[in-house]
Amino acid sequence: MLASSRKTRNRKICSRKRRVIDYLRISITDRCNFRCLYCMPPEGIGFKAHEEILSYEEIDRFAKVAAWLGISRVRVTGGEPLVRRGCPELMKRLAMIPGIKDLSLTTNGALLEGYADELKKAGVSRVNISLDSLQAGRFSQITRGASLAPVLAGLEKTLQLGFSPVKVNAVMTEGIEQELHDFVALAQEWPVHVRFIEFMPIGNRIRGIRKFIPREKILDRLHGFGNLRPVGSPPGGGPARYFRYAGAQGTIGFISSVSDHFCHDCNRLRLTADGKLRNCLFSSAEVDVRPYINRDPGELAGVIIDSMNSKKFDRRQEKPASERLMSQIGG
Ligand code: SAM
Ligand code: SF4
Repeated sequence: MLASSRKTRNRKICSRKRRVIDYLRISITDRCNFRCLYCMPPEGIGFKAHEEILSYEEIDRFAKVAAWLGISRVRVTGGEPLVRRGCPELMKRLAMIPGIKDLSLTTNGALLEGYADELKKAGVSRVNISLDSLQAGRFSQITRGASLAPVLAGLEKTLQLGFSPVKVNAVMTEGIEQELHDFVALAQEWPVHVRFIEFMPIGNRIRGIRKFIPREKILDRLHGFGNLRPVGSPPGGGPARYFRYAGAQGTIGFISSVSDHFCHDCNRLRLTADGKLRNCLFSSAEVDVRPYINRDPGELAGVIIDSMNSKKFDRRQEKPASERLMSQIGG
C-alpha cells in the first residue's frame, strides 16, 4: 500500500535517536457533556462544525497507515468520545486493523453504563474513567453540574464485564486531600487502578484552578494509610508510577507531568478531532493531515514520520504553549 513512500522503508516509527513510537491517541470529538474546571472555561468553548471533524472513514484510514508504520496501541478520547454517535462502531473498525493490538477508551463515564456492552463486543479491552471526586457535591462542583451516580454505575459495569485494567483518573484539585481515604478504599477493594494526575496548565482560558497540588504532597499523605510499595505498571502503564497497599486488589498511580517530565520516553502521537497531528502536549505545533488522509497513503506516512522526527526529547525549560484546551486535544 505504501510502496510509493521513500521514507517508509523502515516500518517502525522512530525519531532520530531511535525512540520507538507505538502509541496513538485519537480524539473523535471536541464536544463534551461536562465542563470540568481544569479543562474548560466556564463559558464553554465554541465547538467545531460537523464538517470540520474527521469522519470515521477518515479516522480509520489514518489509523491504518499509522498501524502500518508500527503504531500498535490506540486510545480513543475526546472531548467526550461517547457523545459522538456510533463510537462503538468506530471502535470495531479500529480493532480490526492489522497491527493494532491494544484498543482503549478514555471517558468521563457519564454514558458508559449504556455503552459498555457494545464497547466490549467491539474489541475495547481497557477503559480509563475520569473520576475526580467520589463525593456527589464536590464532583458536581468540579464538573460544573454533572452527577456522580451514572459515572459510578459505568465504573461498576466495566468491572462486571471484565474490562482490564480499569483505571480511574483523578486530577488533583483543591479538596482532594479530604477524599484520599475513599480513593484508597476503591483501590483496595476493587481491581481498579486509581491515578492521581497533576493539573497541567494547558490552554490559556482555564481559570477554575487556584492551586497546583504536586504529587509529593498526596503521596506523603497516602503513606499514612498503610504500607504503600512501588510496583510495576498494569498493561498500558504509560508515564504513570504505581504503588500498591499490601493485600489491595488495585493500585495507586501518579501522572506527574509537571513535577516529573517524561519527555525522554514519551512514545505518543495525537490526532485531534479536526485532523491535526500533534507530537507533544506542551507544544502548539501541529500538522493538518486531513488533506493527506484523503490523498496518497504514502504521502500521509511521510508526514507522520516527519512529525515524529521533530518530537523533542526534553521540554523541561519550556512553558506549555498550547492554545488549544485539553478537550480540544484529547488529554
Ligand atoms: N472526556 C474524557 C475524560 O474526561 O476522560 C476524555 C477527554 S479528557 C480531555 C482526557 C483526560 O485529560 C481526562 O482524564 C482529564 O482528567 C484530563 N485532563 C483534562 N484537562 C487536564 C488538565 N488541565 N491537566 C491534567 N489533566 C487534564
Ligand atoms: Fe469533558 Fe473530559 Fe474535559 Fe471534563 S476532562 S470537560 S469530561 S473533555
